[in-house]
Amino acid sequence: MRKKLKRFKKTAHHEAGHAVARHFLHLPYRYVTIESDEESLGHVERFPYPKSFCPDIDSENYRVRKRIEKEIIASFAGHAAEFILSKRKNWKGARQDNHETVDLALYYCGGSTEEAGAFLDWMWLRTIGWIKNPLRWMCVKKVAKELLEKHKLKATEVRKIIKEAIHKKFDVKKID
Ligand SMILES: [Zn+2]
Repeated sequence: MRKKLKRFKKTAHHEAGHAVARHFLHLPYRYVTIESDEESLGHVERFPYPKSFCPDIDSENYRVRKRIEKEIIASFAGHAAEFILSKRKNWKGARQDNHETVDLALYYCGGSTEEAGAFLDWMWLRTIGWIKNPLRWMCVKKVAKELLEKHKLKATEVRKIIKEAIHKKFDVKKID
């Protein structure tokens, strides 16, 4: 039972990491869930990429490159949140996330596996630093807590949780 709870908590932080990253990076999604299916323990339901985003043919375009960076951070954010919580890397659990990330990195690096490897190493460190930011990490914890209670949250509900958490934090600061 204890083990199961621990796994739930990890999954909630993993999925909250994805959702919080997508919120702050303005990457749209429908909902986030910790309900498992055959493929995963939970997931974030995204919208398809916009038609203007063609990383395979337009990877030198500034907007495309920015979007790739954001998508990679949002993708790594699940594993990164889990890592910050448990101090353990769970590459197996993040396999699905990493699949697409590798493709995006290869587009970004013009097909060079060596460059893509270095780029992903840096993006991983970048994601850890990004999500560890106290404000963002506070949001991850709040969203994870709600996910453990409700199992599924719409993007609009996540936005509300984040807004409320931030407002609360700054009100407390004012009193101090
Ligand atoms: Zn994930």
